[in-house]
Amino acid sequence: MTFRSILVPTDFSENARQALQLALFFAAAKGTVLHLYHVVDSRVLEVADFGGAVRESLLEGARKEMEAFAAEAAGRRVVVQSRVSEGFAAPFVAIVEEARRLGVDLICMGTHGRTGLKHALLGSTAEKVARKAPCPVLTVRLAEHKFVHP
Ligand code: AMP
Repeated sequence: MTFRSILVPTDFSENARQALQLALFFAAAKGTVLHLYHVVDSRVLEVADFGGAVRESLLEGARKEMEAFAAEAAGRRVVVQSRVSEGFAAPFVAIVEEARRLGVDLICMGTHGRTGLKHALLGSTAEKVARKAPCPVLTVRLAEHKFVHP
């Protein structure tokens, strides 16, 4: 089975970087498109009613991080497209919508993000994406995140 287009949602964490490496491995066919995607979670901005300058600087920061993230796929035999958007719901909603919009064959993502606390409070984005995605979802876990039976 070959994957012609793969979505790699990223929060720019080490785990997402590993997911990108795995996506590159699966994107063996020449011309495969890797869609790198980050959603800026703007829910907090709505609640606190920050000005447009804060919003713009968050988006700008994310675009810069995306540039560095995309550079890790440079020079490979794949087409890399990246997009940063703003979301007013949990990130998994935007990720699933993006997968639908693009009609990707596979989503490749990390099981952990940047903050352990957020993860503990809100649960896993990967779990929710896996449940709602219109295509297969491949998840990558960092070796130091050991499974502990609840
Ligand atoms: P989390 O469940 O938040 O710890 O994140 C797990 C994975 O979901 C990360 O490794 C990313 O692949 C993806 N992810 C989390 N937040 C975002 C975001 N804001 N935009 C895109 N992908 C994200």
